[in-house]
Amino acid sequence: MRRKTRQIFVGDVAIGGDAPISIQSMTNTKTSDLEGTVKQILALEEAGCDIVRFAVNSEEDAKTIPEIKKRIHIPTIADIQFNYQLALYAIEYGADGLRINPGNIGEKWKVKEVVDAAKEAGISIRVGVNSGSVHQEYIEKYHGVNVDSLCYSALDEVRILESLGFSDIKVSIKSSDVNQSIEVNRKFASMTDYPLHLGITEAGNKEQGLIKSSVGIGSLLHDGIGDTIRISLTDDPCREVEAGKILLRTLGLRKEGVEIISCPTCARTDIDLIPLVNEAQEAFKSYKKPLKIAIMGCPVNGPGEAKEADFGISGGKGKGIIFSKGKIIRTVEEENLLKALLEEMERY
Ligand code: SF4
Repeated sequence: MRRKTRQIFVGDVAIGGDAPISIQSMTNTKTSDLEGTVKQILALEEAGCDIVRFAVNSEEDAKTIPEIKKRIHIPTIADIQFNYQLALYAIEYGADGLRINPGNIGEKWKVKEVVDAAKEAGISIRVGVNSGSVHQEYIEKYHGVNVDSLCYSALDEVRILESLGFSDIKVSIKSSDVNQSIEVNRKFASMTDYPLHLGITEAGNKEQGLIKSSVGIGSLLHDGIGDTIRISLTDDPCREVEAGKILLRTLGLRKEGVEIISCPTCARTDIDLIPLVNEAQEAFKSYKKPLKIAIMGCPVNGPGEAKEADFGISGGKGKGIIFSKGKIIRTVEEENLLKALLEEMERY
């Protein structure tokens, strides 16, 4: 069962409560590069991103926010590291949410200014901690960076905002160690009802990053923990979003989109299956309808093994068959298989 959390908003996207689990990513353009940033955000939207974050490192970055917002359709989060003035600019120029840690801002009056401006603008704040920013006092108290020092550092950030009467908060606690990430989020989830943003920090390139994130984020989601996710990859940010969608669909937490079921290939495979599956993955990635498509290597096991698929292809010698719910619809030459599948889906 999903953990009960309070609900907050980033723009018009609800996070927590009974809201669907949202997918986030972050741009890697210079935020002040208006054309580049807008182009990347539009690509992220097309991939299915719900909320986009960008770094605000200068006043110029902040001043670009209104122009960015005019040309995109999803809410924005301004990521601020230390400078409270930049947080104030980001709010002034219309960011829909902030990511900032009050502990990094310094004097309490500066934190208060940011919190007052966020309240006035009606925007939420993400706080948290990762393995590189655990508070020194907890490193000493709990003898290093571990579940306790991570958890209590994050709780401190929350308490600072609460002490200023602010509770539109979501929390992220990230470690590059998957087991530690799972345990600390479980612990924190048992202590508060704030919505959690899940991610594995510095997860790596697409192979390693996908596995680490799927295990870490997937385990927590399976426990009912997590309200919004980002799969961090050293790769094109659109891949993060595509992976996020697959992860949510795998766990039954999102229905829309195409799930491709494909066989691992073996000595019975009679067509060039691997490029076919890759082409299909590409062709279906922005489909919104919930469909299962099977792509199997041989006619004997193909339709039978993929009975529950809405549509499918199975290979024969230089040919293949298109099937739906285990029933054969037509036979086609190998080079036309994907085209024929798309035609049949169109008819459907
Ligand atoms: S579906 Fe056919 S080709 Fe694919 S793994 Fe199974 S037996 Fe082999």
